[in-house]
Amino acid sequence: MTVQDIAQDYLTTGRLTALPDGHFIDGKACPASNRKMESFDPARAEAFAEFSLGSEEDMDRAIAAAETAARHWRQVTPAERCRVLNEVARVFRANADRLAVIEVVDSGKTLAEAMGDVQSSARLFEYYAGAADKLDGRSVNLGSAYTAFTVREPVGVTGHIIPWNYPTSTFARGVAPALAAGCSVVAKPAETTPFTALVMAELLAEAGVPDGLVNVVTGLGSDVGAQMAQDPRIKQLTFTGSVTTGVNVARMAAPNVTRLTLELGGKSPLIAFEDADPEKVADGAYWAIFSNSGQICSAGSRLILHSAIRDEVLSILTERAGKIKTAHGLTGPDMGAINSELHLSRIKAHVDAAKARGANILTGGDVTTDQNTGKGWFFQPTVIADLEPDDPAVQEEIFGPVLSVQNFETEDEAIALANGTEFGLIASVYTRDTGRSMRVAHAMDCGQVSVNDYWAGGLELPFGGNKKSGYGREKGWEGLDAYTKVKAITISNAS
Ligand code: NAD
Repeated sequence: MTVQDIAQDYLTTGRLTALPDGHFIDGKACPASNRKMESFDPARAEAFAEFSLGSEEDMDRAIAAAETAARHWRQVTPAERCRVLNEVARVFRANADRLAVIEVVDSGKTLAEAMGDVQSSARLFEYYAGAADKLDGRSVNLGSAYTAFTVREPVGVTGHIIPWNYPTSTFARGVAPALAAGCSVVAKPAETTPFTALVMAELLAEAGVPDGLVNVVTGLGSDVGAQMAQDPRIKQLTFTGSVTTGVNVARMAAPNVTRLTLELGGKSPLIAFEDADPEKVADGAYWAIFSNSGQICSAGSRLILHSAIRDEVLSILTERAGKIKTAHGLTGPDMGAINSELHLSRIKAHVDAAKARGANILTGGDVTTDQNTGKGWFFQPTVIADLEPDDPAVQEEIFGPVLSVQNFETEDEAIALANGTEFGLIASVYTRDTGRSMRVAHAMDCGQVSVNDYWAGGLELPFGGNKKSGYGREKGWEGLDAYTKVKAITISNAS
């Protein structure tokens, strides 16, 4: 079956075949209790399946299985880990069509976005397969009286709390380095996107990942998620989600002194100077805010424009935004749905409040639907211009296709505006002046900066935030740090 066949079958029947049932614990699908919750296709605003709400016992069994598996996996040779992870990448690619269609239906994104996400998940496993046999320590020079060196050891059982905006690749970016480092995994996907993590766990088993090494328990964050955060057997917790929940998770993990990686929100700036090409700036801003319907932690949700190019950039951008076609992700639209009715209402509340303050909304500004069917949870691509630094639309993460625009005159002013929120995830700067681009890049209080592009780079680079965007880094070589502990060993050379 081609991807078009799978998509057409779903669009006709409203059902996906062979969806996992229950949790995935100790190498197999586990029938779960009768407590179930509906999963919705946001582009139709209709439930398409049910998934299990994990119990305390389910989470307990998953962590116990991971604990046993971790003891074995840390003994497996790095070369063998490398082989298994490469096989995972191959199996993901072979199942890309099925995974991508499930992701579209569960999350609301477009098929092209979901396909990209699946391919980058496969790449993450390849990248960390290549790292598994290169996790060397270093020799330390203490003079001739001692021989000293370091080793990197796996931390043990790792917990992964996954958000709904990139369920597939967020799972992969935590699980791949954890396995490469010799750790085991318990993952909890978000309530509104439970299925791809379960399918990926099945595929990992098919690729030869030993039983118990990767377990998935679906259910409520406040329930099994909180349980995972508090369990002393979890040695590293990788959390991706909102600031509020991240702070809660950190509090819950603190009594056990559990290691934490927090990937939280963002309000990332795209700064464009007067010498930048307006077409290029508008194009960068378009993709930065309208990809994945703006539901990206690192979305370019603030456009900081030099007044000399403000009118030209905004005219190109609003014209393009006004032509965006919203529809079901399986029908090839420009933009997909918002993940849930609750989240749509949050976006609407932000924009309604901006309207009530008299904001200059250049385009969009309201909820909409699938332009073919009149159904679903969608938001119009929206551009709000001429905002002051303290405006809530500048300060608060909206996490939707809503761009806040600020104007500036000087380099110092641009830097102050860009750094002027409580977030610090990524930034980008558009200018033809290399010296200026480097001055601004160094001045940005965030984890990643790109010049004359937005999201330049890939999974080879470390990703993560400063300030309330979180701490710790995922992806790149630095992504392994969370899953390894450094031990120093010293030998006396005395006779
Ligand atoms: P959320 O915080 O509500 O949920 C994230 C995950 O945490 C879900 O799996 C949820 O079930 C779980 N959770 C909820 N309450 C919990 C609790 N008490 N204990 C343990 N787990 C709990 O966030 P969301 O709505 O899923 O995602 C949107 C937010 O996440 C946005 O603010 C966005 O910026 C951020 N995000 C950040 C990144 C990043 O890499 N920095 C990536 C994606 C999303």
